[in-house]
Amino acid sequence: MVIRTRPTAPRPAPDERIKIMCSADRRTHLVRDVEYGTALADRAGACPALCGHRVVFAAMITPFGPCCRSCAAAP
Ligand SMILES: [Zn+2]
Repeated sequence: MVIRTRPTAPRPAPDERIKIMCSADRRTHLVRDVEYGTALADRAGACPALCGHRVVFAAMITPFGPCCRSCAAAP
């Protein structure tokens, strides 16, 4: 018995947004998943948020601070 399968086309990555705590302004910003992943891979320690602020990564155990209103209003 032969089972034929076709490879599936890669799906475009959704525009995922994640909450990241900034150690510089102590606010929680929204960051695109791709930007965050690229910054981690580059060991940059920071990446741009939706509001334009450069988010300096806080330790993962740092509790979230107040949400950035500009990020929350971003489309
Ligand atoms: Zn923001």
